Amino acid sequence: MTKAYSYACRDCEGMEACPASIVAETKDELWQLMSHHASIAHGENPADWDQETRDYLETLIKTVTV
Ligand SMILES: [Zn+2]
Repeated sequence: MTKAYSYACRDCEGMEACPASIVAETKDELWQLMSHHASIAHGENPADWDQETRDYLETLIKTVTV
C-alpha cells in the first residue's frame, strides 16, 4: 500500500458539476495537476490564486492509500 494524495474537483465550491478527480504520489505533483486541470477545464490562471484560495484547495486534498 502506497500513500497518495487525491483531489476531487467537485468538492470545490462552484465546481459540483466537474467530474475530474486527480491522484498523485506527492503533493507537489498533485498541485501541478490541479493547476493544469483548472487551467484547461476552467480557464483559470493558477498564478493568480491567492493564499486564501490555496489554503482552501489544500483543505480539499485527501490522503489515500492505493
Ligand atoms: Zn474541474
